[in-house]
Amino acid sequence: MSLLSMFNLLNVFIRHVSKQNVLGKLQYSSQVLPQFSSEKFNKTRKEFSLVELKDIDYFKKILDKNRVLTEESDVLPFNIDWFKNCRGQSKVVLKPKSAQEVSQILSYCNQRKIAVCPQGGNTGVVGGGVPMFDEVILNLSLMNQIISLDDISGTLVCEAGCILENLDNYVREHELIMPLDLGAKGTCHIGGNVSTNAGGIRLLRYGNLHGSILGVEAVKADGTIVNCLKTLKKDNTGYHLKHLFIGSEGTLGVVTKVAIHCPVKPKSVTVGLFGLHNFENILKLYRSAKSSLGEILSAFEMCDRDALNSSSKYLKQSLPISEYPFYVLVETHGSNETHDEEKLTQFLSKEMESGLVLDGTVTSEPGKMQNIWSFRESIPAADLAGAYLHTYDVSLPQNCYYEIVPLLRERLGNKARVSGFGHIGDGNIHIDVIVPEYSTEVTNLIEPFLFEEVAKRNGSVSAEHGLGCRKPHLIHYSVDETAVQLMRDLKNVMDPNGILNPYKVLPDDGV
Ligand SMILES: Cc1cc2nc3c(=O)[nH]c(=O)nc-3n(C[C@H](O)[C@H](O)[C@H](O)COP(=O)(O)OP(=O)(O)OC[C@H]3O[C@@H](n4cnc5c(N)ncnc54)[C@H](O)[C@@H]3O)c2cc1C
Repeated sequence: MSLLSMFNLLNVFIRHVSKQNVLGKLQYSSQVLPQFSSEKFNKTRKEFSLVELKDIDYFKKILDKNRVLTEESDVLPFNIDWFKNCRGQSKVVLKPKSAQEVSQILSYCNQRKIAVCPQGGNTGVVGGGVPMFDEVILNLSLMNQIISLDDISGTLVCEAGCILENLDNYVREHELIMPLDLGAKGTCHIGGNVSTNAGGIRLLRYGNLHGSILGVEAVKADGTIVNCLKTLKKDNTGYHLKHLFIGSEGTLGVVTKVAIHCPVKPKSVTVGLFGLHNFENILKLYRSAKSSLGEILSAFEMCDRDALNSSSKYLKQSLPISEYPFYVLVETHGSNETHDEEKLTQFLSKEMESGLVLDGTVTSEPGKMQNIWSFRESIPAADLAGAYLHTYDVSLPQNCYYEIVPLLRERLGNKARVSGFGHIGDGNIHIDVIVPEYSTEVTNLIEPFLFEEVAKRNGSVSAEHGLGCRKPHLIHYSVDETAVQLMRDLKNVMDPNGILNPYKVLPDDGV
């Protein structure tokens, strides 16, 4: 099969797996396969064993042969990440259906010193879910069973390969919601969310996964199934081991089951989109929203004009308000529709009078709310369509949240388009730099400049996406060497042969 037809197949695969949400609209401008990550990131293969025929035979004995993919065209989509930034060279994808199968695979790979790359929905942004070289891809998509739901405590127990949106639809039937929501919800797995400690748009209201995850079951590199699948809210019996697996990006274990606390479904949801003149006014508006909307505030997102214009063009839809330099999307989750809509409308009127908001719209009609959200959620797909996207996910103190965007614009001139959008409430900004195609010249202008600017402002070089294979060398911008050393020690204890997701998270050099 030619590379071109393989790439077409890849596009079909991506459209198929993501047909339920904005990801399904992803179009590729180029038919060229991404460069191999090992070349792009200049990596040398570590001394892991090569996968041989005898290994494939063994995998086929544990799984049935349909769950061991070895055809190049079948394996290709699993080797490339959603952002087309990373490409591995794996020869085999394994699709286990149970923790026992995961355990058998890992125990065998550990003895043979075969490297393994755990993969969920493959929507990660930093290349953690695709191999660097020929690691075996352990794809969890067939581990998608809901195990139990206690609708009194709100505790859901499920397998790691459940798609976030499917879980949300399920718990909504029981008057609950998932505590996290993100643009990739139609494709990403709950196991992937746990392993990346995904944040998303409602972290402001429902907190991060270290709070919502009650327990996990995970398989260590040697095949041991570690049962921390507790469903209690309070449990101080010994060390809180579940936290080791939350955000460790598949380097300490493979998450196989998750117990998660689901909040009560709000009786009323209201969304507003506001236009503002400058970033300072966004901060003032945020302060005012916290005091005026109080406990019902569930999201406070900002986008600059470039970001929202991009998604408006991509969706072929005009924004419901005129064009402004900045936009804020406010959402409330409450218990009384009339009261909540009134509260948000009053807030809008007050802030239009004060001059902070130039124009705005408020709605509680589901179709219109979804429409407003789709402008915000489509930004990554819109920026990726027809271009090469450098996407950065950083945290900054709110008073300097937006400063790096104009700095980059000045530095890059007409070489690139730069936009900023993100979760103001958590200080997390996404900075997209969009160029017609990848060039080292532009990359060198952005990096390490951007990371140095983040460090100068006491920010974090990874807010919610993790380090994956794209950012391990940046860890020192945000983490003290004593802490990096403890991370290395943990990795050595949990995975002494280093077979789990090598080349990811921790830098090789010990710098
Ligand atoms: C349009 C779009 C919007 C997004 N919005 C957000 C957002 O708002 N907030 C946010 O935080 N992220 C966001 N993301 C990034 C991404 O969706 C999240 O990181 C998500 O949690 C990844 O889940 P996944 O199942 O796709 O994992 P993958 O991409 O498959 O894997 C991610 C990492 O987790 C590991 N992993 C996956 N499953 C397991 C498992 N079961 N056990 C152990 N390790 C595992 C992989 O090895 C890899 O290191 C967005 C992505 C897209 C494309």
